[in-house]
Amino acid sequence: MNRIEILKKKIESINQRDYGAYQSLKGKYDYPQFKLMIDQIPKDPYAPPHTGRYRIIIKNNFFQHFDKIFNSKTSEIAFRDFLARTFYNASIKHSKGRRGTGNSGLITIAKPGQAILDRNSVIADKKKIEVRFFIGLPANGRKIDANTCMFMLFEEINEITAHALFLENLDIDALLKHIKTAEDAEAIRSSLESLSLTTFIANNAILPRRSGISDKPLAKNQAIPFKSPESLEVELDTPYSGKIKGMGIPKGITLIVGGGYHGKSTLLNAIEMGIYNHIPQDGREKCISNFSTIKIRSYSGRYIEKVDISAFINNLPLQKNTTRFSTQNASGSTSQAASIIEAIGAGTNVLLMDEDTCATNFMIRDQKMQKLINKDDEPITPFIDKVEYLYKNKGISTILVLGGIGDYFDVSNHIIQMKNYVPIDATAKAHEISHTTINKRVHEGKEHPINLKERIPVKDCINPYNRYNKKSIYSTEINRIHFGKTMIDLNDLEQLIELSQTKAIAEAILTMSRSFDGKKSLKEMIQRLMADIDNNGLDTLNDKTNGYFAEFRGIDLAFAVNRCRDLKLI
Ligand code: ADP
Ligand code: MG
Repeated sequence: MNRIEILKKKIESINQRDYGAYQSLKGKYDYPQFKLMIDQIPKDPYAPPHTGRYRIIIKNNFFQHFDKIFNSKTSEIAFRDFLARTFYNASIKHSKGRRGTGNSGLITIAKPGQAILDRNSVIADKKKIEVRFFIGLPANGRKIDANTCMFMLFEEINEITAHALFLENLDIDALLKHIKTAEDAEAIRSSLESLSLTTFIANNAILPRRSGISDKPLAKNQAIPFKSPESLEVELDTPYSGKIKGMGIPKGITLIVGGGYHGKSTLLNAIEMGIYNHIPQDGREKCISNFSTIKIRSYSGRYIEKVDISAFINNLPLQKNTTRFSTQNASGSTSQAASIIEAIGAGTNVLLMDEDTCATNFMIRDQKMQKLINKDDEPITPFIDKVEYLYKNKGISTILVLGGIGDYFDVSNHIIQMKNYVPIDATAKAHEISHTTINKRVHEGKEHPINLKERIPVKDCINPYNRYNKKSIYSTEINRIHFGKTMIDLNDLEQLIELSQTKAIAEAILTMSRSFDGKKSLKEMIQRLMADIDNNGLDTLNDKTNGYFAEFRGIDLAFAVNRCRDLKLI
């Protein structure tokens, strides 16, 4: 009897038995064209997909077929990302979905979003492709439903695999387009530096999204395509789309101004998301930013552990020290100051801020307020008085969305006005206004430079055990990690886009926390871990996952660790 016959017999023999009897299906089964590995079966039908481990392994005949295409890391990532999508789509189309109790009947894979990401749901080498997915083994109540199980394992799995992974069944043009789109995006990102740009937004890009809860593009007939003002237009060369034109935002200080509802935040969001390579038809495939770009916002209530925010905040009431500032409950301005210092410490080159989510008193102290409240009575040095210093002394560019604070004209290199969703270069006009204004606010930022201190965690400060002394780390939402007894709130980390990234970051925190020794700095440990992932893939974090990790940046990891309420620094 071959392994398939054995599997069939096993399933028949456990019909109507308690769910626990499914454990006997663990093993490796040779289907005619692929292998199915059942490594781990959840103990009950309600268990969430990440608790099971099911894999399909199939011969990789793509690489030799398209040997000229698969010659870069970018193309290899795009290839695997594409298969994760074909598998996800096929699992919806060729399976009946949930039937029975809980997740019974469900066949699925971690859902990919609008970005092409390195993900460990599909891995590949020259010889084989491995897909990590989930099968909700079916039951009614806790009673095993062998008939449905047979249908899932021998009909649906076959159909899904054939449609998602067989070279002859795939839309090869779509695959090649996926890869070329990623390669072009990567090429644009590499040319930013040589042109001294922070970001590039291609002409004809579609920036607005369908809704506040959908990352898909607004329908073409409703969206006004992007068109660069002539003065900021640059031309770049790409390997597959040839020469393309669009708006290049130079390094330095840039304002995005304009009336409410004219498209300012939409442009900034596209810049935020330009750290990713997007899928074809997204609209932002050629909107590319410096990889270290980070969005900063104020987030009162956040945790801060020993950050030197003295460049921005000094002489707090009750003499609270701001060179090693800690709090369980930050104010709007202190949270924003701490996030900027942490971002610089983590190696960012570009800061993004939107007045919609900034603390006003952190951004500005206007002339009238300067006259009423003496500088000695105001702990905050507003960002407007540091933004030039940041660029001149630290090489850090800032892109700011502002509708209400014209004082920033005085300190900005470029001013882009959004008017009916079309950008206009308003630099000359704004600078003219700046020069002809007689009553100006006083510059206040001369003292208090930015000092970066090493962040060295105390040994064992982060603890993955919950109050029942069980190891417990999980995420069910993009912006939240449950870690041991605490919860890490990532709501102000606006550039995370997939739950798989959050899960990977949670695991990365655990991995890293094992080497906390009171000597090594966070920066050092993050660099080492990121290099490790780069060389050995996301499985480095934990090779027992069911393909629920997606790539993240070292900066994002730093942000997440810094928000962990267990973190203690020496
Ligand atoms: P602001 O920040 O200037 O107040 P938003 O960027 O929030 O404006 O945009 C306001 C609305 O206009 C949003 O619903 C957004 O989706 C939509 N929008 C933005 N850009 C475009 C565009 N190019 N074409 C069509 N609608 C757009
Ligand atoms: Mg806005």
